[in-house]
Amino acid sequence: MNQSETNGQYLEINRLTKYFGDDRAVDGISFNIPEGKFLTLLGPSGCGKTTTLMCIAGLLTPDAGKITVGGIPFTSTEEKIFLAPEKRDIGMVFQSYAIWPHMTVEQNISYPLEIKKVDISEIEDRVMEIIRLVGLEDMVGKDATQLSGGQQQRTALARAIVCRPSLLLFDEPLSNLDLKLRERMRVELKRIQHEVGITSVYVTHDQAEALVMSDEIIVMSKGHIEQTGGPHAIYARPANRYVSNFIGIANLIEGKIARTTDSGRAEIEVEQGGERVLLPCLLGEGLEPGDEAFLSVRPENVHAVRERPEGPSMEGEIIQTVFLGNHLDCRVRWQDFEWKVQAHPRERLREGESVFVRLDADHTLAVLP
Ligand code: ATP
Repeated sequence: MNQSETNGQYLEINRLTKYFGDDRAVDGISFNIPEGKFLTLLGPSGCGKTTTLMCIAGLLTPDAGKITVGGIPFTSTEEKIFLAPEKRDIGMVFQSYAIWPHMTVEQNISYPLEIKKVDISEIEDRVMEIIRLVGLEDMVGKDATQLSGGQQQRTALARAIVCRPSLLLFDEPLSNLDLKLRERMRVELKRIQHEVGITSVYVTHDQAEALVMSDEIIVMSKGHIEQTGGPHAIYARPANRYVSNFIGIANLIEGKIARTTDSGRAEIEVEQGGERVLLPCLLGEGLEPGDEAFLSVRPENVHAVRERPEGPSMEGEIIQTVFLGNHLDCRVRWQDFEWKVQAHPRERLREGESVFVRLDADHTLAVLP
């Protein structure tokens, strides 16, 4: 089915719900992705990511909702449709590599094609093409047990894509690798996905992984969606306190919307230890004057300066500095609050110094509590 018949969306999830006993693991979530895109379900342990993935794969039966892939309904509780998992034509890569230890790399990758009774000469061509794509040329004849964790995961990925599935599902595939390898594999995996162009759903609790790899991120908590957006939007414009806290590092401080000004801007009133300040900010969705809100600002958008700046500022003391080569992480105590500030080492800020904290208004947000 072509894109125009499916509103440009390839995977469509509509009001998906799954209970385990009385617990609602997935609470009526809906999302879509266009063909060829990489979507990540991001959230802490137990928020329902794996359950969602398993419903897409057909390994769990949802209690309600509809899942459509390329115009084909995989599951629809209303229409009483449930396509068997083996008919869904899905490739999966898990945290445990799940490759066959008694087979070589080549045999592992060719096996799914043999089962499908693909012509032997075509199998050879396709396996070699995939082996090159995942960078395992030197490992072809090796037993799977002789491979490193990263090589085993490349083999698992090759095996998942060799049949050109309709969809690729990943469940924390990099979690067992050490940090350096994990960082390399993020970029590699994204490159390979981009090259093969197979629509992918990726599950992780690692926000850095989600930011690096995804076209679209869905931030989940307790079975529902907190925010959907591209990596840049999720980082720069978190919808609420939860997302702001979960993605990257943020200064979050309670306040009240004092007034709205022109074009999506506002002033938020913040009070700490009897001192009140009015801080200009961007107004998050769903907020109006008088609403309780949280001010959210990343440390790179908070400045500690020695001279009192023009406009609103807060006088405080530097209580900690940590030198990290290309930047300096500082903590500045203002009343009962500690500002996290990322400064340039050239500024030579020192512990014990008095400074004024100034926020970059274009990158300070008022968000929903
Ligand atoms: P993790 O990263 O730890 O796997 P997750 O976000 O993928 O977490 P799920 O595995 O989808 O979360 O679990 C969502 C909720 O459903 C949790 O509260 C979990 O305890 C519960 N749950 C998941 N599978 C089952 C099951 N087979 N039986 C009962 N409860 C389950």
